[in-house]
Amino acid sequence: MSAERGTTSLPASNSVVIDVQHLTKTYQLGEVEVHALRGVSLSIHHGEFVAIMGASGSGKSTFMNILGCLDKPTKGQYILDHIDVGSLSRDALAQIRNHKIGFVFQGFNLLSRTSAIENVELPLLYGETPSKVRKEKGVAALERVGLGDRIHHYPNQLSGGQQQRVAIARALVNDPSIILADEPTGNLDSRTSVEVMEIFQQLNDNGITVLLVTHEPDIADFAKRQIVFRDGKVKADKMNSDRKSASKVLAKMPAIDEEDNE
Ligand code: ADP
Ligand code: MG
Repeated sequence: MSAERGTTSLPASNSVVIDVQHLTKTYQLGEVEVHALRGVSLSIHHGEFVAIMGASGSGKSTFMNILGCLDKPTKGQYILDHIDVGSLSRDALAQIRNHKIGFVFQGFNLLSRTSAIENVELPLLYGETPSKVRKEKGVAALERVGLGDRIHHYPNQLSGGQQQRVAIARALVNDPSIILADEPTGNLDSRTSVEVMEIFQQLNDNGITVLLVTHEPDIADFAKRQIVFRDGKVKADKMNSDRKSASKVLAKMPAIDEEDNE
């Protein structure tokens, strides 16, 4: 894919990967208009680790879906890696989505009758990757999240944390530069949540830009920057000067015995 500059008039510095200006999203529910986003402007640079916080209904998922090119804004501009997303055809949009962005969801969204490796290989099926290369990339992605010894397990043979790690491996398999995760620890216990955050921190240390939605301050503490949404607007946006290391937090947490005390 060509990484040509879009026709943006914004003075985008080279390291800005996400730039949104005056983003609004209005859903029409019959007669009623729901204003999910009411004018959001912000930029995110390469290598950032951002936690997006805010009450339920404040527009976090709507925002993430627009960033992930899963949904379009009603108004406003979205520049992704210097490309004006609003000007792209549907095919071009799908290309960008597949190659630049990896998604992780709260409910893992794995196919249940499909093994870990097959789940992870899934995004590669849309391209022309030969099956041998698919397999190699799938195994490498699972090894990256510490699941090299679980590749033939089915989701129901894995713990919640392991399932989320399979989902992260699936998000990584196309080598994205950005990971978008919408409440990825929402279904996990506290230790497992920190383990998942450890993986996100490692990926971020290796140059991947991470944006993650959470309503838990303990989870947001692992991010480098914290943005709070309220009523479809950015209410606060600050750097986290006291960022926690998930590895260090884990070292101090009691281990959970495998398989018991659920
Ligand atoms: P959050 O993720 O912060 O909980 P959402 O972005 O999911 O918030 O929702 C923001 C607002 O938009 C809420 O009022 C929600 O009810 C509304 N909303 C979200 N998706 C839709 C939709 N597809 N149709 C109508 N309203 C929606
Ligand atoms: Mg949400």
